[in-house]
This record gives sequence, C-alpha cells and structure tokens, in this order.
Amino acid sequence: MRIPLSSPDIQEADIAAVLDVLRQSRLSMGPRQDEFERAVAEYVGVPFGIAVNSGTSGLHLAIRALGIGAGDEVILPSFSFIAPANAICYERATPVFVEIEPTTLTLDPACVERAITPRTRAILAVHTFGCPADLAALSSIARRHNLFLIEDACEALGAEFDGCRVGGIGDVGVFAFYPNKQITTGEGGMVITRDAALAKRMKSLRNQGRSETKDWLQHAEVGFSYRLPEMNCALGMEQMKRIDAVLACREKIARIYESKLRQNSDLRLLPIDQPGRRVSWFTYPIRLGERFTRQDRDRIITDMARAGIECGRYFAPIHLQPAYSDAHRSQDLSKSDFLMTEACADRSIALPLFHQITEQQIDEVCCQLSEFIQRPAARAAAS
Ligand SMILES: *Cc1c(COP(=O)(O)O)cnc(C)c1O
Repeated sequence: MRIPLSSPDIQEADIAAVLDVLRQSRLSMGPRQDEFERAVAEYVGVPFGIAVNSGTSGLHLAIRALGIGAGDEVILPSFSFIAPANAICYERATPVFVEIEPTTLTLDPACVERAITPRTRAILAVHTFGCPADLAALSSIARRHNLFLIEDACEALGAEFDGCRVGGIGDVGVFAFYPNKQITTGEGGMVITRDAALAKRMKSLRNQGRSETKDWLQHAEVGFSYRLPEMNCALGMEQMKRIDAVLACREKIARIYESKLRQNSDLRLLPIDQPGRRVSWFTYPIRLGERFTRQDRDRIITDMARAGIECGRYFAPIHLQPAYSDAHRSQDLSKSDFLMTEACADRSIALPLFHQITEQQIDEVCCQLSEFIQRPAARAAAS
C-alpha cells in the first residue's frame, strides 16, 4: 500500500540500542528489562511494571493473578480486539459482552451495571482507539460491587482520564507494543499495577511460576513462558524516551484529519477535545452516517485500497465471531442487546495514522474518502 494504515517509527537510536544488546551476552531478563519496566511504570505513575511478550500475555497474567477462573464472569465490550475475551477464556472464566457508548466507542457504564450478577468478578475496560473509557463511572461501579477493574490500555499508551494516565487507574493495566501501537518492541506488552503482591505473582507467572529464589528449577506454581527479550526491551526503552513527541505527533495528525473531515455531514468523528480526556490516537477512526450499510463501508474500504490507501475495518464485534458463537463460551445473546455495537461496527473505518504520514498524504486520504463516500454504489457497479 502506498499509504499504509500504520507503520512503525524506527530510528537510528533504536537500531543502535538493539545492536548494543546483541553485542553483550545477556539476551533475556537483564538490565534492559528492568529499565524498560521502570520507565513505563514511572510514566504512568505506578510502582510496578512487568514486561511480557505480548499484550495478550499481559491480559492473561492479569486474569490469572487476580484469581479469576471457572464460574466467574468478566464484563467487557464486544466492540474490541479479540485479545481480552481470549484471555478470559484461557482461564475458563466467562466473558460477558456489553454495549459501548456511541461517542467514545468504549464501555457504557449503565450497561455494565445491568450486566452484573453474583458471579461477576471484574470489569475489563478497553480504551479503544486510544480513547479512555469512563474510568470515573467504571471505578465507582467496581468499588460498589466489589469487583476488580482491569484496563486494557493496549491501544492507549499516554491517554489520560481526569489528568491521570490510563492503565494506572484500575487494579491492573496492560499495554501492548505490536508494530501498529504508539510505541513498538516488535512484539511485546507490559502489565502495570500498584499492588506489590500482584506484581510479584505476575513476575513469577511470566517466568514459569518460578519463585524468587536463585534456584532456576524451583517452581512455586504452574506458570507461563511470557518473558520479553532484552533486544525488545532496549527497543521499547528507546521508543519510550520519545513518548511525548510521539503523542504530540499523533494528536497533530488527528487534528489535521478533523479539520479536513469536519464539514462532511456523512461522517461522525471521535471528538478530540473531550473534557477530562486526552486521546492517544491508535488510528483515526471515523463512522459513516446512518444511511450507510456495512456493504457500503466494505466497498469504500476496497475503493480506498485500490487507490493505494489502507484502511481498517475496526472492529468486528466479538460476540459475532465464530470462535464465540459457541453457547458454552458466550452469554445468551439476543440481537437487540448489541444495536449500538453492531451499528458502530458496520459503519466504522480506521484511517491511516503513523508518524511519517505527510499532510499531503492525509489530504489525499480525505479527498479519496469523500469521493468514494459520495457514490459508493455507482463505483461498485462500474468496477
Ligand atoms: C493490540 C491489542 C492487544 C494486544 O495484542 P498483542 O498482539 O497480544 O500484543 C490487546 N487488546 C487490544 C484492544 C489491542 O488493540
């Protein structure tokens, strides 16, 4: 694609840092891991960070370490990437999907409250597209019902809610560093928490359940192999040094998109200046107006691809995925429970957002989009 949906920002300093690790003999569990963990935890303002080999691994550690298992329910949005639902299933707990609010595309607190049962153990909020969920309302619900609050901040490093960075507000927060995220380690993730005991348990679980003794073959419990190599930690550390510039750049791109698309009455945009929220812009999400169908949306994405512009179909609702149609794994779903989720999912398009994109390229994306929106059916018939 001439204009990709995302593109990692790898600079000479990043390359030098990775090469530097390769010239030493310590390739795992060394000083780069400690440094990277400290940097991310300090940035968010919590005492503990645990680097892991993916965001999904981080979510899994959170679920396991909080003691959530068979018979327990965890409330999460269906309009999300599949990883948080999978992490719940790994521990044989039940994902309970609920609706999102149309403005922020994150959990609707009123729907969360209605979904609580005696089996509910946790609320898993996803800060989708880098937009914080309503953490004030969700924290208060969690406290009132004695539930854990888990933050999937995998798309939201640097986003803020009421002046606090997301990930550090709930009991556990998780970041991811896949190449399309705000910063990347190739593959990787980080769990953060204020709870020392939880941090200790997750550190052990990440490393085959090893106890903190020096004995490498002493295992306190059945754990996982979720460690993040030193090369990846070194890359992440270099990227973290630029985080302020990264977020400023992403916001600038979002503002250019907004200025060019604001006038288009066929589009609903994610508001940039929401009171109490700072968005960290994973992609630039737009939604087509009510008169458009999913077929229109897919046609527009295909037209954009033909023009060399890659767009995303974020997100397909999890409750409609074949992997979750099995009644054992899913709640008793009725179509009417997800009107908002399905309406948003059918009409959403994620536009290219990466640090190297030029204003000219953004302009091209917006012009092409506006053109294809105007006559999607005619174009499809002609091709
Ligand atoms: C990227 C992402 C993850 C983690 O993905 P990994 O590929 O496992 O790092 C989890 N949740 C959401 C919402 C994500 O976007």
